Amino acid sequence: MIQIEECPVCRSKSLNPVFKTTDCVVSGDSFGIVECGSCQIRLTQPIPDEEEILSYYDSEDYISHSETTRGLINRLYAVVRKVMIVRKRKLAQSLGPSEPGKLLEIGCGAGAFLNGMNQSGWEVLGIEPDERIRDAVRARYGLAVVSPEEWFSQPESSYDVITLWHVLEHLHNLDDYLRKISTSLEDDGVLIVAVPNYYSYDAEYYQSRWAAYDVPRHLYHFTYKSLTELLKHHGLTVTAIRRLPFDAFYVSMLSEKYKEGFTARGLLIGLISCLKAFINVRRSSSIICIAEHKNP
Ligand SMILES: [Zn+2]
Repeated sequence: MIQIEECPVCRSKSLNPVFKTTDCVVSGDSFGIVECGSCQIRLTQPIPDEEEILSYYDSEDYISHSETTRGLINRLYAVVRKVMIVRKRKLAQSLGPSEPGKLLEIGCGAGAFLNGMNQSGWEVLGIEPDERIRDAVRARYGLAVVSPEEWFSQPESSYDVITLWHVLEHLHNLDDYLRKISTSLEDDGVLIVAVPNYYSYDAEYYQSRWAAYDVPRHLYHFTYKSLTELLKHHGLTVTAIRRLPFDAFYVSMLSEKYKEGFTARGLLIGLISCLKAFINVRRSSSIICIAEHKNP
C-alpha cells in the first residue's frame, strides 16, 4: 500500500481526513478519504500499488469491466450505456473538426464508443491495460488497441480529440499520462474528461456510502475546481463543462444497494441530484470537462 504524502494536483501536504469508506464491490476492505486543504481534491488513503490493485478489479460485479445484465441496476446500466455512447459520440463529433479526424480513447474498455466513432469515419486508437479486453476489442471490432506501456513508448502522434470517460480517477501515474496526453493533442484539439463529482447532491446525501468513491479503484475524487487545476498544470484550459445526468440515478441506486437500502429512494435522490445539476452544472453527479491548449 502507498501512503499519499502530498496532493497530486497542487503538492500541498495538508491532507485532512474526511471519513472512512468500504469497498462494497470486491474486497470489503476499508480505506480512508482525505481532502487537500488547498485544491480540495479528495484522495483514497492509502492506495494499493499497481500490482496490488489488480486483485481489486477481479470481480464479476465490477460492471465497468464486464457486460453483465443480471439484476435491475445492471439492466438499467446496460440500457443507459447504449444511450450514453450515442451522446458521447455526438459530443466528440461536435467538438472535433468538421470532417472526421483522429481520436484517442484512454481506457477504451469493451470498445463500444471507439467503435461508434470508427463507424462515423474517425481514425481511432484505444488504450486499455487488460490484455483480455484488448484481444476482445480487436476480435469483435477489428480496431487498434494497445497497452499503456506500448502507447508511452510510441513516437508522438497528434489527435483531434482525446477522451477519458471515467478513467482519470483510476490512473496511478497521473502526471505521466497528462504529460503524454498534452503532447499528443493537436494544437486546436480537444480533451474530454469525465469523472465522478463529489460536490454533487448524491455524494453529499450518501457521504461515505456514495458508490462513486469506489475505493480503492478510484484513487482520486474530483470536483470541477480540482480537475480544472490539475489540467492547468499540464497546459490545458477547461473551456466548457457538461453534465452526465444519468449517473446520478445509477450511482444513487448503487449506493442504496450497498447499504441495503431502497432502490426507489435511490431513484428519488438521483432525481433531486439531477434537478440540482440543471441549476448548477458543477453539482452534476459526474462532470465532463472539455479542455484545450489555449490561454483563458
Ligand atoms: Zn491539492
